[in-house]
Amino acid sequence: MTVAEVGEIEPHRLLVGHEWVDSLSTETFSSIDPYTGKSWAEIPACGPEDVERAVGAARLAFDDGPWGKMTGADRGRLIRRLAVLVDENAEELAVAEVRDNGKLLREMRGQMEALPNYYEYFSGAADKIGGDVIGSSKPNFFVYQLLEPVGVVGAITSWNSPLLIAAYKLAPGLAAGCTFVLKPSEHTSVSTILFARLVEEAGFPPGVLNVVTGDGPNVGEPLVSNPGVDKIAFTGSTVTGKRVASAAASHLAKVSLELGGKSPNIVFDDADLDAATSGVIAGIFAACGQSCVAGSRLLVQRSVHDELLSRVVDRTAAITIGNPLDLETEMGPLAFQAHYDRVVSFVAAGLEDGAELIFGGKRPDHLPEGLFLEPTIFDRVENGMRIAQEEIFGPVLSVISFEDEDEAVRLANDSSHGLAAGVWTRDIQRGHRLAKAIQAGTVWLNAYRMVSHDVPFGGYKSSGYGRENGLEGLREYQQTKTVWVETEGIVRDPFKLG
Ligand code: NDP
Repeated sequence: MTVAEVGEIEPHRLLVGHEWVDSLSTETFSSIDPYTGKSWAEIPACGPEDVERAVGAARLAFDDGPWGKMTGADRGRLIRRLAVLVDENAEELAVAEVRDNGKLLREMRGQMEALPNYYEYFSGAADKIGGDVIGSSKPNFFVYQLLEPVGVVGAITSWNSPLLIAAYKLAPGLAAGCTFVLKPSEHTSVSTILFARLVEEAGFPPGVLNVVTGDGPNVGEPLVSNPGVDKIAFTGSTVTGKRVASAAASHLAKVSLELGGKSPNIVFDDADLDAATSGVIAGIFAACGQSCVAGSRLLVQRSVHDELLSRVVDRTAAITIGNPLDLETEMGPLAFQAHYDRVVSFVAAGLEDGAELIFGGKRPDHLPEGLFLEPTIFDRVENGMRIAQEEIFGPVLSVISFEDEDEAVRLANDSSHGLAAGVWTRDIQRGHRLAKAIQAGTVWLNAYRMVSHDVPFGGYKSSGYGRENGLEGLREYQQTKTVWVETEGIVRDPFKLG
């Protein structure tokens, strides 16, 4: 596949079972490139009937298809083949993501280069799925446990890193033996469709991966509510995550939720300020702040506030903003108009609530067109303000000062979210104390924005539940069956339990 092929030859189609089909609705919608503002691909606008068809294909593949009869080693081989194909097509997939969501090519290239690692890692786990023998206290019984796949998974992804987030779900889920119906965000469908072609090319049996495209109400909700779906693996906002959990409860589907964050990046006065400055910039201005782990609250010790802020502002002023496909660019546009309007509304909210705007806050002068916003820094933020409590998902940093360690911990935890946190200090004991005290699924000490296929990731509090990546991520796609084997041939009292 070449970049020219992506979206410019024909409208995309859906993968259902082993066939590329049109949506039953026959309608399409456009994917808008946020840099050019122009449509660059036509996507099928699916409806509930397409979801039903896709779930049926995934169900059939799970219950009756060759997939269920494959050994773990067979599944592992297919997943490894997929890893190779992803690697060979990494550049095209990266460009598709940039054109869909406007994130930097250098960021998306990095993600696509890492993507094969996810599939390779879990391909290696596929043939090592065992179980346990229980040393039961019941005499005359041999008891063991099997780890079986949960079944059909409805996977729903957000627009900010579509294929990486899909890999968090597909790689362990396929290794476990599940089948999938995958719904990408309507803003970023192309890379998922291109990826599905690679799954087909790798030789997966029909119905193991099905893709349905379209919006939340017409595709997401019917998928979550479909009783043929055994598990929902969702990445998105906390608001939608709550709706998803409640709809899945109607048929008791298992749920894992990777939701929003308002993560603190905490800098103490003994920190390496060069490293901390870089970590602060990475935390909020990388990916234009459109990152679930964005370090959107900078908690800085008062004694080092002026020094750190002057470094952060200097580096911010030097950020190159422009075309996301240009490798020199450090910040591109925001992903789509409604999101842009929402992010800009938080600049007004910060001013209204009395924070001090010390950098940015408007469209860059040299970019009169496109969804661009300057990197924006508010100082003198109180932790109760809207810009300190609500996830903005854009390049807006809220700076909050603290006096001592106790206050830093209190401020860090004074949030409904608990996804991630950064701590910058040269005092190793303090670092570990903070790591223990902070309520978040990930804490980085003297680093920020590190993720890996072999390290579990997920949220505390309203940042979600369940873990992705690492072997813990595999367990999300397995259920335990216990088997009791009577070994003595004894006839037992039928009216006595156990
Ligand atoms: P949304 O919650 O708006 O959407 C997420 C996905 O859910 C999209 O595919 C969306 O479809 C779909 N959807 C919308 N409504 C429903 C519904 N009622 N039922 C089922 N599915 C639905 O989030 P965004 O796409 O805007 O993503 C940004 C959010 O994702 C941020 O809050 C961010 O923090 C979070 N995120 C969390 C991560 C984590 O690992 N914790 C990682 C990355 C992002 P459509 O877009 O087509 O409407």
